[in-house]
Amino acid sequence: MPAINIDDTLVLPRMSEPDPAVSRERPVAKITPGRRGVEGAGFPVYRGFAGLTFADIDPFLMLDQLGPVLNGPLETQGAPWHPHRGFETVTYVIDGEVAHHDSHGGGGVIGSGDTQWMTAGAGVLHDEMPTERIWKEGGWQHGIQLWVNLPSALKFSPPRYQPLLATELELATSHDGGALVRVIAGEAGGIKGPGSTHTPISIVHVSLAPGAQARIPWNSNFNSMIYMLTGTATVGAERRVLPAHHVALLGAGDHIAIQADDIQPTNPWDTEKAEFLLLGGQPIGEPVVQYGPFVMNTEAEIRQAFEDYQAGRLGTIPTN
Ligand code: MN
Repeated sequence: MPAINIDDTLVLPRMSEPDPAVSRERPVAKITPGRRGVEGAGFPVYRGFAGLTFADIDPFLMLDQLGPVLNGPLETQGAPWHPHRGFETVTYVIDGEVAHHDSHGGGGVIGSGDTQWMTAGAGVLHDEMPTERIWKEGGWQHGIQLWVNLPSALKFSPPRYQPLLATELELATSHDGGALVRVIAGEAGGIKGPGSTHTPISIVHVSLAPGAQARIPWNSNFNSMIYMLTGTATVGAERRVLPAHHVALLGAGDHIAIQADDIQPTNPWDTEKAEFLLLGGQPIGEPVVQYGPFVMNTEAEIRQAFEDYQAGRLGTIPTN
């Protein structure tokens, strides 16, 4: 189950409720499945946004869900050293641990419930590996990595880190206590999260009890997506079915409406709740040219990124 949990949601602050007289519910534009992929040294992921376009998800670029998977001893894999330029990575460890190192001497352990925000900006080399304890003992791994684009004016920002500890997440609940809401970045329903972002976005992790409904106010200038991590729910007035590893792209409006199915599928990791992410941001509206770990505005900038990488200008792997 998620590392950040609370039995009695009624002690938490309530999110504001949308005003039924004026608040427009966001309709479902499309629902698409994630695609199985392989990352790093060979661990399986779901590419959550595989069925959507860059224009649909702007300012996001990618969402990978790792797990939930129970690894035995010596089974947990990571992502060895690789470069990035032109965007930010957000790694949220829902359950498990990741050890992280980078070419600027930064990094550390991303523990259960922690989020690490890395602005790759002008360039960084990093690795994301199991901790020694997880490598030796095995255990649950469940997490996400989001890539958030930077506008052209900020693509060469100096690299920076924001470790957001599990204890810093803002917890809240819905009007009837049926949802446990963790605001990682941005704001939802009047609850503000700790992440400070170059591009305005909101990232929220919700655990919704079976049969519970949530109506969550969402910045009307942001786009809006719901990614189902585990469990099932229906979205919007039309009760469109959103199964695990699927994403719902929502249209314009002021709030999100979602209802967890009464009976949730069995999952050895599960909390018997529908676990999902609410994601959205201010679209950047610029051309996106991606090649592997580099995301720029033009082909020429991608070629330059490769040259800079090969010349060691994105950093070098530490020797210790
Ligand atoms: Mn990476």
